[in-house]
Amino acid sequence: MTTACWINETLYPDWGQRFLLTRELARTKSEFQEIVIFESASHGRVMVLDGVIQITEADEFVYQEMLTHVPLLAHGSAENVLIIGAGDGGVLRRVLQHAKVKRAVMVEIDGEVIRLAKEFLPAIALDAWADRRAEVIVGDGIDFVRRAPDGSFDVIIVDSTDPIGVGETLFTDAFYRHCARVLTHRGLIVNQCGVPFMQADELRETSARRREFFPHVTAYVAAVPTYVGGFMTLGWAAKDPTLAASHVETIRHRASEAGILGTTQYWTPEIHVGAFNLPPYIARHMPAG
Ligand code: SAM
Repeated sequence: MTTACWINETLYPDWGQRFLLTRELARTKSEFQEIVIFESASHGRVMVLDGVIQITEADEFVYQEMLTHVPLLAHGSAENVLIIGAGDGGVLRRVLQHAKVKRAVMVEIDGEVIRLAKEFLPAIALDAWADRRAEVIVGDGIDFVRRAPDGSFDVIIVDSTDPIGVGETLFTDAFYRHCARVLTHRGLIVNQCGVPFMQADELRETSARRREFFPHVTAYVAAVPTYVGGFMTLGWAAKDPTLAASHVETIRHRASEAGILGTTQYWTPEIHVGAFNLPPYIARHMPAG
């Protein structure tokens, strides 16, 4: 009789989720982190970095749609998009769904994540890697923004690991200062800010930091089943304070023009606009004013 093999997430010392493993597909220690990809009985294929669940085939649509469609449709005419992290390719795929996008630059620090995602998680990025508008760079996101020209991007999407280890530099003043310089006058940046019920510091500190460089800082929420602990927050920092308050019919019209309407499983114009209404236990971590 074979014994069941469980994979336990080690994000929180005193609480967590587990997956029944049906097949281990890859396990390696890269220059930056331990990468494991396995087949689960419940959520399809799953990628884990240093013991933390990054993505599952079953629920990746929630996070990827909200991290991509919300900033691009709020902006309304984004042509040049910078993606930092996101080595699984899911954000790249969603960005390239937008007809107005002319250039999508993705900067991922760990080439092994991209290689293993292509081999074992092809359903996440599909054919985005081959799109002529995509530029995929293996490198540190902070080095890229340091070198990028002023005003060269409309939207920056940071899909990184938490502010521990390699991801830490992406939550620093230096990073946000350069991001503000690299963005156009209507530019905005979004990033994963953790699950505030368990990781309130990440949201509070990140938002306070960005308030130094952007006139408008807030967050919006999404319910991602395998980012356990309730709402996931996506941090928002914009040069134009009106972008987060777009009208639902404006968003619907833009989504139709972009070719997004009817292609999503979580994002809708109503979910988009509603996601900025933060419950008090989250809103209190936003910077005043
Ligand atoms: N959605 C997941 C989450 O919210 O936890 C993140 C998924 S994505 C796979 C995270 C990626 O960020 C990893 O592949 C990691 O290598 C990359 N990353 C971490 N620090 C980075 C840095 N400084 N520059 C570029 N990519 C980085």
